[in-house]
Order: sequence, then C-alpha cells, then structure tokens
Amino acid sequence: MGLFKKKKYIRINPNRETVKEADIKKPVVPDDMWQKCPSCKKSIYAKNLGVNKVCPNCSYGFRIGSKERIEALVDEGTFVEWDTDVETEDPINFPNYLDKVKATQEKTDLHEAVKTGLGQIGGRDVVIGIMDSQFIMGSMGTVVGEKVTRAFEKATERHLPIIMLTASGGARMQEGIMSLMQMAKISAAVKRHSNAGLLYIAVLTDPTTGGVTASFAMEGDIILAEPQAQIGFAGRRVIEQTIKQKLPDEFQKAEFLLAHGFIDKIVPREELATTLSYLLEIHQVKGGDGNVRN
Ligand SMILES: [Zn+2]
Repeated sequence: MGLFKKKKYIRINPNRETVKEADIKKPVVPDDMWQKCPSCKKSIYAKNLGVNKVCPNCSYGFRIGSKERIEALVDEGTFVEWDTDVETEDPINFPNYLDKVKATQEKTDLHEAVKTGLGQIGGRDVVIGIMDSQFIMGSMGTVVGEKVTRAFEKATERHLPIIMLTASGGARMQEGIMSLMQMAKISAAVKRHSNAGLLYIAVLTDPTTGGVTASFAMEGDIILAEPQAQIGFAGRRVIEQTIKQKLPDEFQKAEFLLAHGFIDKIVPREELATTLSYLLEIHQVKGGDGNVRN
C-alpha cells in the first residue's frame, strides 16, 4: 500500500440541480472536537483549550460551571455548601416558571444559579459564592438574592472574608420586581460586611451583566475579572439603539473596563487560585481553626 492515496475529485455537474448533497460524502466531525471562541471567533481544537478551558488565541475563558470552579479554586475537600433549601415562591405566578426551575435543577444538577458556602483557599477560611450561567443564564431571582445575602451575613458574623465569582444575564424576569429588590438587599449586606472591616473580593467572569453588575459585582473592595469577559449593565444593542451611536468593538470587555478604571486587575484563569490565595494572605486572614464551620 502506498503512502499517499490518489487524490479524489468530486465531479461537479454543470447542471447543479442534479447534484444531490447526499451524493457527496462528508467527513464526520464530532460536535465537541472544535469549539468557536465567542471572543475572537476563531475555531479552536477542543483539546487545545486545556483543563482551564482558555482560548489559546485570545485568553478568553470559556464558560465553566460552579462545580469546576470549586475544583479549580478551593482546597480539596474543604467546601461546605450552604442554603440549598431556599426555594422560590414564584412571586408573580409566571407561567411555567416552577416547571422550568425544576427541569433546570434536574438537567444541571444544581440547586440554583449560585452556589454559596465555606471553604479554604491556600489553607485560609473564606466564604465563597459562585454563580453559574448554566442555570437560567445565571439570572438573579429571590433565591439567588437570599443565598448571596446570607453568605455576606454569615461572613460578617464569623469575621471572614468573602469571594464572589459572578456570571449572570441579570435579574430574573420571571420574578419581576422581586428580582430587582435583591440588588438593594444584597448591597445592604455587603455594606454591613464592609463596615465590619472585612474583605470582599469580586471576580467578574463572562458574562456579568444587568442587576448583578449594578449591585454586588461592582461593590468589591478588590474587583478582578477574567480576560475578555463581557461585563456591563444593558446589552450593546439596547445602548446603541438608545443613544443612536455605534459603540467601540471592545466595549464591555474586561480590558475596556480596566482601561477606564472600573476594575482593579485582569487575572488569567490559570493564575486565579494563586492570586486569591495571595490576596487573602496579605490581608492577614487567619487559617481555619475549626470554629467557623456549619
Ligand atoms: Zn479566542
């Protein structure tokens, strides 16, 4: 058998209509072999994204779930999840809303769009909240609002720092005004935590938008972001239609926000655990002594 096969040509019929698509054998490419980077639009061979799921071309961090985040950031076996018994009361009787929540819970194996709890990073106790865009686009309804508020309150009671990783499409429309009220409720808890002289680090991941941006995402003492993450309040199209102007391409990207002083630092995903550990260390957070659990 020769090393090279003879090249095959597909004969194009001058009468195109007679060539059926089924006559041309297409190579079968598995769906997950190539992924298009949402940021630079290049097709990336999935294996080249690595364990951190980062685009090798533009450093954009592909969306990952809260479970993967905990594995990557929190010391192994230290995370204890809180408040998984909080349930929505469907405040505006939105059609099919409860069914949607239940179906999403089953599909994603998540309780809600945020996971909160206590864990250790670099051997130091810290309250952690991680939003998950797989759950109704990480939208913030009453359950997310309550869980985040409780996380800040528990951090204040236990004199602990808190880290929030945000990823959200904004307020959850299925809960109407009750979703918007979470912004004020959480902000009040953030302020009480701050008044107690405690550290809050916000890590903005792609996408952080709407009511989450307009409240706790932008209230961190230190605000970090992942490269190329989309961060904003209203969407690009809404703003362009309102102000009747074209926005720059890089608008609402983490790099744009850094250049305009909205955030403190862009941290590549692979450096996030070390950076958070270092920040906790220089703010003299004590190591776990076993008294703060539950
Ligand atoms: Zn890219």
